[in-house]
Amino acid sequence: MRDVNDIKAAGLCAGCGLCAGVGDAAQPAIVMRDTSQGYRRPFVQAPVPPAQKALVDAVCPGVNIQHVDSEIDAPYHPSWGPIVEARLGWSTDMGLRRQASSGGGLSSVLLHLLDSGQIDYVVQTAVSDDSPLRNALRISTGRDDIFVAAGSRYAPSSPLEDIAARLDAPGRFAFVGKPCDVAGLRALARRDPRVAEKVPYMLAFMCAGVPSYRGTDAVLKAMGIDDPDAVVSFRYRGDGWPGFATAVLPDGTSHQMDYNSSWGGILNRHLQFRCKICPDGTGEFADITFADGWLCDDKGYPLFEEQDGRSLVLTRTRKGEALLQEALAKGFIDVQAVPLESIRHMQPFQTKRKGFVQPRMAAMASVGLPLPRFRNLRLSEVRRSLGAKEAFRNYLGTLRRLVRKRRQD
Ligand SMILES: Cc1cc2nc3c(=O)[nH]c(=O)nc-3n(C[C@H](O)[C@H](O)[C@H](O)COP(=O)(O)OP(=O)(O)OC[C@H]3O[C@@H](n4cnc5c(N)ncnc54)[C@H](O)[C@@H]3O)c2cc1C
Repeated sequence: MRDVNDIKAAGLCAGCGLCAGVGDAAQPAIVMRDTSQGYRRPFVQAPVPPAQKALVDAVCPGVNIQHVDSEIDAPYHPSWGPIVEARLGWSTDMGLRRQASSGGGLSSVLLHLLDSGQIDYVVQTAVSDDSPLRNALRISTGRDDIFVAAGSRYAPSSPLEDIAARLDAPGRFAFVGKPCDVAGLRALARRDPRVAEKVPYMLAFMCAGVPSYRGTDAVLKAMGIDDPDAVVSFRYRGDGWPGFATAVLPDGTSHQMDYNSSWGGILNRHLQFRCKICPDGTGEFADITFADGWLCDDKGYPLFEEQDGRSLVLTRTRKGEALLQEALAKGFIDVQAVPLESIRHMQPFQTKRKGFVQPRMAAMASVGLPLPRFRNLRLSEVRRSLGAKEAFRNYLGTLRRLVRKRRQD
């Protein structure tokens, strides 16, 4: 059985908060905290009851990502997972489209869910009230909340950290999370019938990995801001598409950095280890996944120039497809069909990503690290499509990194 400390020690924790969230909220044995390295991690502060231990071992998405055939109700693509339909979409609310990360597709579906009364609230992540540089779990009940939470926050989040308390409380909610957060909630649903009752919809966005808060500090430093505490507001992107990372100082001066430099040059160098072996960067367990619908040049490279935002929208379950159709009929979202083959041009990294997993896990095995249980995801198929050379390069790169880390520890 894997417990929280084993999972952390093996570098498999993603920081989702599920292990803490399934405990007794009145007397928590596990709590989530920010670490000095800038990640969110669980800390065991009292003996963990055996039932909680067993549940964590079974549902923690750090160590368990697994499809159950009976849950898949759409054709399964090896790279993209289950897909009913692929579309480009954007919010018809122009303010929201501009504020959002790509086209505001995700937020527009949330608006429809609240407007139609299918849910009472949304569990999502937004900037913390305590600091413009920190994330916090946000309960949203109307457009203003959804508007504030729109946009990507490239930093740790633990949207499952109070999940049992939410499932006990009155009301139904939609859940928004990273693919690992949603996979964790889906795994919990297999053991806890309250999830199906209380969470009619799970929405995810594609995720290339979670950078630590040190990544945020490095972005600020590169902008010329040495004192992060001086920042009064900060956004990673949005207010346009892809928008600029923007920090505002007390005197009103604003410092900006383009998306390619902030994400591509800095943030993606601060990813936690678990994200490097992620077998589901595309939200395979969600009802609908949203992603950047990048326009590409004629070589297939994404163009990061400012334009009207558009989200790639993948419906993954029949229920998700029906929801999207409703949001469309009610005028919350506009869409345009896209052929499945065109997704790889918009998401070149995610196209290959599942192929990296087995070689990187082989490197973990070579240094004696315990392996996660990633099953029924067609990882071998994507690995084979990479070719032996690229797979070996991934094995070697990870092995080197792990050996170096061992020496430093
Ligand atoms: C860490 C991270 C990595 C990403 N990697 C990719 C990628 O590889 N490819 C890609 O196409 N897209 C990626 N995205 C998603 C992308 O930035 C957009 O969210 C996506 O295009 C949907 O856009 P939208 O306009 O429909 O979303 P919006 O309408 O702006 O809604 C965004 C939603 O994401 C939630 N959210 C924001 N930050 C977090 C967070 N840290 N944790 C949990 N929830 C959060 C908000 O609460 C909101 O509900 C990533 C996002 C994050 C946070």
